[in-house]
Amino acid sequence: MLMKIKAPSKSIRLGVRQKVLLVMLSVLLTALGISGWLALKQERSDTLKEIDQRGTDISRFVAKSLAYSVVGYDYHTVQLLLDEITLADDIGYAKVINLKGNVMGESDSFEDISDSTMVMFVQDIFLEDEVVGKLTLGLDTRNTLNKLESQKFALVRREALIIILIAFGEFLALSYIIIRPVSLMSKSLDSTIDDDGKIIGAIPVLSKDEFGQLATQFNELGTQLNDANARLQSKIDIADEELVKNNRMLLRQSEELKRISDEFKKLAITDSLTMLFNRRRFKELMETEVEMSIRHGDTNSLLIIDIDYFKKVNDNYGHPVGDRVLKGVANLLKTHLRKTDILCRIGGEEFAALCKRANKSAALAIGEKLRSAVQGCITRFGDENIKVTISVGVATIDSQSVGINSDDLYRQADMAVYCSKDSGRNRVTHFDDIDPPKNNHAK
Ligand code: GH3
Ligand code: MG
Ligand code: MG
Repeated sequence: MLMKIKAPSKSIRLGVRQKVLLVMLSVLLTALGISGWLALKQERSDTLKEIDQRGTDISRFVAKSLAYSVVGYDYHTVQLLLDEITLADDIGYAKVINLKGNVMGESDSFEDISDSTMVMFVQDIFLEDEVVGKLTLGLDTRNTLNKLESQKFALVRREALIIILIAFGEFLALSYIIIRPVSLMSKSLDSTIDDDGKIIGAIPVLSKDEFGQLATQFNELGTQLNDANARLQSKIDIADEELVKNNRMLLRQSEELKRISDEFKKLAITDSLTMLFNRRRFKELMETEVEMSIRHGDTNSLLIIDIDYFKKVNDNYGHPVGDRVLKGVANLLKTHLRKTDILCRIGGEEFAALCKRANKSAALAIGEKLRSAVQGCITRFGDENIKVTISVGVATIDSQSVGINSDDLYRQADMAVYCSKDSGRNRVTHFDDIDPPKNNHAK
C-alpha cells in the first residue's frame, strides 16, 4: 500500500496559474491604459498640427487669390470668392478687410461662428510684399475631430488586441517554464512513500534552472532520509531483538522465582521428615475448618496421635532409626485415612488428623483403625523387629458445640490423649468420655 503526500487543497485558494494570470491581467490593463493615453495624446497633437497647417495653407492661398481684387476695391469679386470658399466642407467663415478697415466681403456658412469647433486664421493679404488687407478664415474642425474620435477607438482596439496576444503568449511561456515543472513535481509527490515510510518516487529533473536544482536537492534529501530511516530501522530491529531476549530472560527468571517462592511456601508448611503438613499449617487449617463447622453446622473430629514410649526407640536404636520409625508411622497413618482427612505432624512424635464429617463414633472408629494398624506394624532393624503403639485422643465439634473455637477443640483432643496415656497407652479416648473434672477444665 502506498502512502500519498497530498496537497493541502483546502488551504490553496489561488493556484500559481491563477495568480500569474491575475498579475498579467493587471499589468495588461495598466499597459493598455498608459499606451492608449500616450497614443491618443500623440494623435491629438498630430491632428491639431494638421488643422493648423491646413488653415495656414488655405489662408495663404485665398489671401493670394484676393490680393488684386482687394487693391482694385472689387467688392463684388471679393464677396463671390468668399462665398465660393465657404462652400468647402471645412471652411465655415471668411472675411476680408482692406487697409482702410472696410469690410470688403464676408461669408458665413456656419450658424454660430463662435462654435468651439471653429478655428480662426488671420492672414495678411500681400501684393508685391506690401500688405493690402486682412483675411480672416474660419476652419471647421468638426469632421477632423470626429475622425480623430473614431480613430481613437480603432487605436484602442488594435492596441488591446496586440497586448492581449502578447500577454497570452507570455502566459503560455510562463506556464511552460514555471507552472509545468511545479505541477509535475507536485504530481510526482503524490505517490512517494511506502508502508515502511520509505520514499520510493523521485521528482523528475526537467531543467537545469532553479526548479531542476530544487528537484535534485529534493531527490538527494529523499535518498538521505531513506538511508537514515534504514539505519534507524536496523537499530530499532537490534533493540527489538535485545528487548525480546531480555523479556524471555525476565520471564524465565520470574518463572524460576515463582518456582522458588512456591518451594519456599511449601517448605514453610511442610515437615521435612515425613512430608506431612507441619504444625503451622495445621493451625491454619484447624482455624478454617472449625470456622466452617460453626458456620454450616458441620460435624468434624480432631484426632491427636502420640507414639508411646518413643524416647526408648531412640535410646535403644539411635535417632536415625527413630526417624525411620517416625516416617513409617506417618505413612501408615496416611494410608489409613480418607483423602479428605488432613494429617499433620504437630510435634516430635505427635500427629494430628482432622477428619471431616466424622462424628464421635466415626472418629473413634478411625482412631481405633489407626491404633490397630500401628500396633500391627513392624520396622525392621537388622534382625530385630521394632514395634510401636500409639495413644489417640479424639474431640468432636458439631452443631451442638456452642462457643468452641479451634484452640478449645485442640485442648480437648490433647486432654483425651493424656487420658489414653494415663489409662495405659495404646488406646483411643474421646474427650466426651473422660472424667467430668478434666472435661470441664478443657471447656
Ligand atoms: P510417652 O509414651 O509418654 O509419649 O513417652 P515418650 O517417650 O514417647 O515421650 P517423650 O516426650 O518423653 O519423648 C519423646 C521423644 O521423641 C523424645 C525425642 O527424642 C523424640 N523425638 C522427638 N522428635 C524426634 C525426631 O524428629 N526424631 C527422632 N528420632 N526422635 C524424636
Ligand atoms: Mg509426645
Ligand atoms: Mg510419646
